[in-house]
Amino acid sequence: MNVDVDGLYLYDRIHGHAGTAGNASDFAAASHDPKAWTKGVTRFLDLFARCNVPGTFFVVAQDLAHPDVRAVLADCVAAGHEIASHSLTHPYTLSRLPDAAIAEELSSARKQLQDATGQAVTGFRAPGYVLSEPLLRAIVDAGHTYDSSRFPCPPYQLAKAAVIGLYRAQGRPSGSIPESPTVWFGKRTPYIDRLADGRALVELPIATLPGTRLPYIGTSLIAMGSLGYEAILPLLARTDWLNFECHAIDLTDHVGDEIPARLAVQPDQRVPLAKKWPLFVRALESLARHHEVRTLGQWAESPDRF
Ligand SMILES: [Zn+2]
Repeated sequence: MNVDVDGLYLYDRIHGHAGTAGNASDFAAASHDPKAWTKGVTRFLDLFARCNVPGTFFVVAQDLAHPDVRAVLADCVAAGHEIASHSLTHPYTLSRLPDAAIAEELSSARKQLQDATGQAVTGFRAPGYVLSEPLLRAIVDAGHTYDSSRFPCPPYQLAKAAVIGLYRAQGRPSGSIPESPTVWFGKRTPYIDRLADGRALVELPIATLPGTRLPYIGTSLIAMGSLGYEAILPLLARTDWLNFECHAIDLTDHVGDEIPARLAVQPDQRVPLAKKWPLFVRALESLARHHEVRTLGQWAESPDRF
């Protein structure tokens, strides 16, 4: 199980909220709202401890400028969880940036995360799950051994492309970009990705259900609710590869945690924590019962199992 720690400012970027901290140019890491960490990550730590499983946190390195973020990160490390890279500043257009800018995003992030944790950072996840050949090369160049950005999920990718198109039509361009349709039907289970230059990178795709390729991530768990979850449980128990990807805000409470009202645009934010928490406990307990739970870094060491 793994968690993308996307700060609230990143949701403003996705939804094109002008004049907020969502504008990359006016972001000041030390002053951003750290609730994705202080509320979201803290609850994931409780969840992992309760179910006695290790997790992987994908961290945007610039967030470490905030002292509260550094404190929660130290808790993650002390509890034995893996810290992986989610880039330096989480540009949604990372895959299309000039090579030098991509290299800077990846190498600086990895160095800052290693300095902060005292551990080797081996994993990377791209902002918005979007990869490109130059980005794959840079992931290897920066010293990572695995990537976990592929999301071979046609329903998700279709919905994302539709939302981006809708925002564009409304004149408030989203910071997000759609992934190439060739990725939508890629391999569902771990594999070795051979780059054009011959080097290898382990790919650990995000979970989809066999056959239907419906997404199985935190957001979809919240959307399906307990009835939907019960319905797919037999299928989940038989699913070979369950790289269950969550976001830190999956475990925030929109009202209780005083999340900015504009982010209620997200359906998952409108579900109170009191409803989400038991669902995540149930999902993680079931995962631990039916599957071997390891960090992604540990899985990356034996991709040949698949
Ligand atoms: Zn992200």
